[in-house]
Amino acid sequence: MPAGSTDHDVIIIGAGFAGLYMLHRLRGLGMAARVLEAGGGVGGTWYWNRYPGARCDVESLQYSYSFADDLQREWTWTERYAAQPEILRYLDYVADRFDLRPDIQLDTRVTAASWDAPGTWRVETGGGERLSARYLVTAVGCLSVANLPGLPGSFRGPSYHTGRWPADGVDLSGRRVAVIGTGSSGIQSIPVIAESAEHVTVFQRTPNFSVPARNGPLSPEYEQWFKANHQDLRRQLRTSHSGLLASPNPDSALAVTDEVRGREFEARWERGGLGFLGSFSDLLVNEEANRTAAGFVHDKIRATVRNPAVAERLLPGGHPIGSKRLCVDTGYYAAYNRPNVTLADLRTAPIRELTPGGVRTAEREHPVDVIVYATGFDAMTGPLLAIDIRGEGGLSLRDKWRAGPRSYLGLMSAGFPNLFTITGPGSPSVLSNMIVSIEQHVDWIAECLERLDGRVIDADPQAEDAWVEQVNEIAKLTLFPRADSWYMGANIPGKPRVFMPYVGGVGVYRDKCSEVAAKDYQGFLRS
Ligand code: NAP
Repeated sequence: MPAGSTDHDVIIIGAGFAGLYMLHRLRGLGMAARVLEAGGGVGGTWYWNRYPGARCDVESLQYSYSFADDLQREWTWTERYAAQPEILRYLDYVADRFDLRPDIQLDTRVTAASWDAPGTWRVETGGGERLSARYLVTAVGCLSVANLPGLPGSFRGPSYHTGRWPADGVDLSGRRVAVIGTGSSGIQSIPVIAESAEHVTVFQRTPNFSVPARNGPLSPEYEQWFKANHQDLRRQLRTSHSGLLASPNPDSALAVTDEVRGREFEARWERGGLGFLGSFSDLLVNEEANRTAAGFVHDKIRATVRNPAVAERLLPGGHPIGSKRLCVDTGYYAAYNRPNVTLADLRTAPIRELTPGGVRTAEREHPVDVIVYATGFDAMTGPLLAIDIRGEGGLSLRDKWRAGPRSYLGLMSAGFPNLFTITGPGSPSVLSNMIVSIEQHVDWIAECLERLDGRVIDADPQAEDAWVEQVNEIAKLTLFPRADSWYMGANIPGKPRVFMPYVGGVGVYRDKCSEVAAKDYQGFLRS
């Protein structure tokens, strides 16, 4: 299809896992696509999150592209869970391997995009550039807008957000470091920072559940087996609930004896990783079942942390295990046995202000040289709403989503024709192995664009309403809405409290999307 009156057939925003694969697929269709990327390199989340200890919590062989047999044969992962530098090397390799760079424009932040009927997206960048395309695809990630808490006072030393870590690194050795936040980023970075820092003070507002990663070198035998069975294993990932090879146990936690239950938890704790939540089928839907898993983790924390008072302050309560993203760590709880790690519990003594030399809580001033903000992201909607997106008749996406995101299948939002959102709110996205979900969306969008052959597509508002209701109804059957999580938008003041991802599972969701396409894009309008 020729670009015609627009500069490009398709503009893709973002050059992470999603943007790179989208570009590759569109090239294969002979479409003229341009990727606009805010960062100084490709990699998306793996370009920005360079904090000490940054590592994926999905196993490397599963957290990799499946679309090219050659690629998976050629690339060798060194560890069970890849660290950030290795994943970034992989994405750089992919960009070169498929010669993607000529169509990727770095250091280019998209600030606005507006639909110009009958068929053009006009895109503006921070540098004042104006580009046009017939279709616009967002590949902006779900966790790419950093949340900085804006504490009162001022600190004279340097401070860094984990998701905006300087590319040339930060030397924290011999420094007194404050880490604010104990989500996945904080929990991964604290033990690593503590190895070289003079002192680490952890400012914890809400204790989180964490399970051990049991990371280590990837065994050549396992890798060989995985590669030899690539097709079958990838099919299993695509049809599973979470996009992981987690062997979920179909039994209820309440239908077995205490001994059997304990053995199952112990085996999964020993194996390490997110598969812990697959110990029993009802952990995320039944509070009593959930409490058994929470109690198991509490016992592990008490057994690990030598100071009983510190252990008690680390015990998560108030939210069911798994209702906030489960953390996966290497030596997190044991780090509190080090003489150079102090826990500041913000529930008993909240932060009052930053001072030139540290952080003052209601209790006392903690002198530090550096502040690390591990305070998370304006998740899922944040990266989309950071762009001033305007659809039919100037309709603003910010206005349309004022009470929470509305989309059909997480792929399109009615009133924004020819705009596709990879892993958008309303799709499994962050509840799954992101690579499985990204590949599914990219393949679906590519096929859709091929079949559209230049026509305009939009979501039918009725189909969208029904999907939003379904996303909400399924979430209500689970324990997810019980937590003040970023899944619910609860971490950002003023953000609407709506459960944003689709919790029905990647297999079910994939079938639904395929069925919609097979029924000639049921629920979409074309002109
Ligand atoms: P997060 O889970 O949102 O955690 C942010 C932490 O900062 C929470 O402990 C939060 O406390 C705290 N916080 C926020 N504002 C604060 C304030 N004003 N004062 C004190 N504490 C404050 O963010 P994250 O750790 O960056 O992780 C986000 C997501 O990214 C993860 O859930 C995961 O999906 C992904 N991630 C994955 C990996 C991996 O693959 N291993 C690594 C890192 C991140 P409250 O809980 O009280 O709000």
